[in-house]
Amino acid sequence: MKHEPSFRDSVDLMFNRAVALMDLSPGLEEKIRVCNATYTVRFGVRLRGAIHTFTGYRSVHSEHLEPVKGGIRYSLGVHQDEVEALAALMTYKCALVEAPFGGSKGGLCVDPRAWEEHELEMITRRFTFELVKRDLIHPSQNVPAPDMGTGEREMAWIADQYKRMHTTDINGAACVTGKPINAGGIHGRTEATGRGVQYALREFFRHPDDVAKARMSGGLEGKTAVVQGLGNVGYHAAKFLTEEDGLKVIAVIERDGAIHDPHGIDIDKLRHWIDGHGGVAGYPDGEYVENGATLLETECDILIPAALEGTININNAARIKAPLIIEAANGPVTAGANDILLDKGCVIIPDMYANAGGVTVSYFEWVKNLSHIRFGRMQRRQEEARHELIVNELERLSRDRDLGWTLSPGFKQKYLRGADELELVRSGLDDTMRAAYQSMREVWHGHEGAKDLRTAAYLVAIRRVAASYRAKGL
Ligand code: GLU
Repeated sequence: MKHEPSFRDSVDLMFNRAVALMDLSPGLEEKIRVCNATYTVRFGVRLRGAIHTFTGYRSVHSEHLEPVKGGIRYSLGVHQDEVEALAALMTYKCALVEAPFGGSKGGLCVDPRAWEEHELEMITRRFTFELVKRDLIHPSQNVPAPDMGTGEREMAWIADQYKRMHTTDINGAACVTGKPINAGGIHGRTEATGRGVQYALREFFRHPDDVAKARMSGGLEGKTAVVQGLGNVGYHAAKFLTEEDGLKVIAVIERDGAIHDPHGIDIDKLRHWIDGHGGVAGYPDGEYVENGATLLETECDILIPAALEGTININNAARIKAPLIIEAANGPVTAGANDILLDKGCVIIPDMYANAGGVTVSYFEWVKNLSHIRFGRMQRRQEEARHELIVNELERLSRDRDLGWTLSPGFKQKYLRGADELELVRSGLDDTMRAAYQSMREVWHGHEGAKDLRTAAYLVAIRRVAASYRAKGL
């Protein structure tokens, strides 16, 4: 049987493949690849009358830019290698979308479903205490965010705990992103990763040459997709793509099985069912398939793995039929599977690009917190002033030349209002996703030898990290 490299090794293998095409000094190459430090902490919390010990990690991969950035994951499967692989991906992801951060990641071995809300709060505050004590949570040094098993609730606890420990830090809110709106968050952060997947696919389909490489033609409208994981990322991606771009999701794979419906699945309805029943079993529409993973192998145009790493591996890669895979999760395709799929002519839109929407909007949130001004206020004022000039000019022209034009009050009101925070966030994210795709695409179609989008993405990212190390010296 073929040996499957670990997640950590997969990331390094893919890194090495890109570096082989570059002209980096061996010393610098190693400096970029290795993980700078990983802190492991074990702490006890008294819960339900007994002391429970939890193990947590915060790994810092690269500090070429600070703060370093990356989510905190709650799962029983968390271990040091996984956290380090994820931290490395954060370095490359941030470089690719030009979010000015180094890479980091954290994890806590805990099953969030096994504890009550108030218990999770105690656990989170205690973990935060340990990380803040060592400046592993800090607005200018290390800024966590949500990841699998965590969300805005946990981020609010983290921010509050940090502020209790640094009562005079005026920038305290910027110590973590992904907070609720009323605790210093930004509109559009929760949907951001899924939204980014949508913008990434839209950008891909704007290039007929690229679409042809995936043995398809035309746009997103009417294409079929299989989604694995209807968590925050998978849900938002599937919802927006079906509601706004005419994508047809024919299967959703979840923990307890899958739903298959060739006529297309109503994403909101299914999500609602999962929230109420804890899984997809019993969902009235479509067919329930107990061994959900087999549906990864269904005939479809686009496969969207949005769950765990390693779900597409050497054991199932040869049977995958989708000509296009977009990695909404981090590391869903192992290095072994990657080669099998590329040999089959499959196009893979890589994780470090596909799911970069989260950290992109985290960057907006961090800037908003540090500027202490409602995000977009300045831009909005400028925009409103510009729009007012145009409206006045139109009205003046009409009067002077006796043209008899009138602008409807509805149009005037809408036009003069400027963009609100959510619109600004979405358009900033869209610009970012387009620009990052262009930079990858240039390399993909260029003469540097990058035969696939992942290698191209690594090349762009590593080049930027290297330039930053060179500029500042080591
Ligand atoms: N956990 C997310 C990721 O893997 C978001 C990280 C962040 O916003 O800092 O990209």
